Amino acid sequence: MSDLLDRLRGRGWRMTAQRRVVAEVLDGEHIHLTADEVLARATARLPEISRATVYNTLGELVSLGEVVEVATDARAKRYDPNAHRPHQHLLCSTCGTIRDVHPTDDPLSALPTHERFGFTVLAAEVTYRGLCPECAAGA
Ligand SMILES: [Zn+2]
Ligand SMILES: [Zn+2]
Repeated sequence: MSDLLDRLRGRGWRMTAQRRVVAEVLDGEHIHLTADEVLARATARLPEISRATVYNTLGELVSLGEVVEVATDARAKRYDPNAHRPHQHLLCSTCGTIRDVHPTDDPLSALPTHERFGFTVLAAEVTYRGLCPECAAGA
C-alpha cells in the first residue's frame, strides 16, 4: 500500500479540496499515472479543478519525496506514490500495464566497482519488459 493520504496528513500537508483530489487519485497500489491521466481523473471527481493546480500539486508531491517520477516507457513521465519502498517495474510492451516488483538482488549492488568508473552511484532503475497475461493470451 502506498498510504499516500495518510502520509501527507501525517506530515501536516495543507489539504485543500483540489489538492486532496490529486492525492486521492494517486493513492493506491501499482499506480503509475501520467500528468494528463491524473488531470482527467481529478477532473472527473472535481470538475472545477484547474490544470495548473494539478501540475503544481504533482510537482510539490515530488519535491516532498512522497511521489516519485518514473520513466519506464518513452511515452510520458509517470507519477508513482510508492515512494518509500525501493522497487522496480514490470512493463507490458503491448498495453502499457505497469506493476511494482521487487527483484531478489539489489540492482544497485549488482554493478561491480570496476564498472562504476569512479562514480558514486545513488540509484538504479530496472524495467522488465514483456507481455502481461491478458496480452499474451490475446496474441
Ligand atoms: Zn498487456
Ligand atoms: Zn512503481
